[in-house]
Amino acid sequence: MTAHVPAAAHAPASARPRVGVAKFASCDGCQLTLLDLEDELLSVVEHFEIIDFPEATSARSAGPYDVLFVEGSVSEPAHLERIVELRRRTRHLVTIGACATAGGIQALRNWADHDAFRAAVYAHPEFVHSLARSTPIAEHVAVDAELRGCPIDPGQLVELLTALTTGRRPQLRDEAVCMECKRRGVVCVMVSKGMPCLGQVTQTGCGAICPRFGRGCYGCFGPREQANAAGLARHLQMAGDRPREEVGRLFAGFTAYSEPFRSMVTELGGTRTGREAAPGEPAGTTGGKA
Ligand code: SF4
Ligand code: SF4
Ligand code: SF4
Repeated sequence: MTAHVPAAAHAPASARPRVGVAKFASCDGCQLTLLDLEDELLSVVEHFEIIDFPEATSARSAGPYDVLFVEGSVSEPAHLERIVELRRRTRHLVTIGACATAGGIQALRNWADHDAFRAAVYAHPEFVHSLARSTPIAEHVAVDAELRGCPIDPGQLVELLTALTTGRRPQLRDEAVCMECKRRGVVCVMVSKGMPCLGQVTQTGCGAICPRFGRGCYGCFGPREQANAAGLARHLQMAGDRPREEVGRLFAGFTAYSEPFRSMVTELGGTRTGREAAPGEPAGTTGGKA
């Protein structure tokens, strides 16, 4: 996975940057965050020329784009060529959401038997042209900035758009969710209730929504820089007397394919096979848990 904000948002090429939204394997929830901005929506249209956004308008454009928001993971053969072509026509490529930045929940198949999954779900799996692995966009092309979460946070989206209009670097904190708990005076669910929580290894940005509602964080914003996932996994096993596979399953969520969560899932199990297939290796041939 790329760094949280790998490049500064340089000054836009034109007075009113041309913006597109592209979808890969995803549920559209992150695109909807853009439409849900409500109070800011008129200002967004005032400052950006939306030239391609299938969720919102029937107008189409092949670019070029000053900014392209990409939602979803690379999940089928046609995606491989399409993302490279879109990158060629884009100045700033921004990935939005856990699918685009981490491979999404659909990346759980990276530890499973892809053909068996297809056969279990579809009456005619031969018509489903999916790749054996679901991968983040940054595994295929350079990404200029990324917004995490499932879905993304409206506040972070506004901050990124504001930075793009002014030509400054977006201010997106690289902190653990725990910091949000402390700032908001949220009682720690791990300490007070003994619940498992991934907040200390997860990137902030959501305002600690889950702990605020009395449940543990399940890591939808993905791992923060230098997250000690192995240390947390050891603690969760010892303190809660939890089987290793149960702890592995805690990391096997929307951002399971991001390191170091990926290593935890592979080492501890928590998926059907517990062992990730190497690129090019048929999934499901790798035996049991490591
Ligand atoms: S990250 Fe979540 S909300 Fe966004 S497209 Fe993927 S599944 Fe949907
Ligand atoms: S509830 Fe979770 S995120 Fe909040 S302080 Fe405790 S461990 Fe950290
Ligand atoms: S607390 Fe964790 S799981 Fe809940 S929204 Fe925030 S990052 Fe996602």
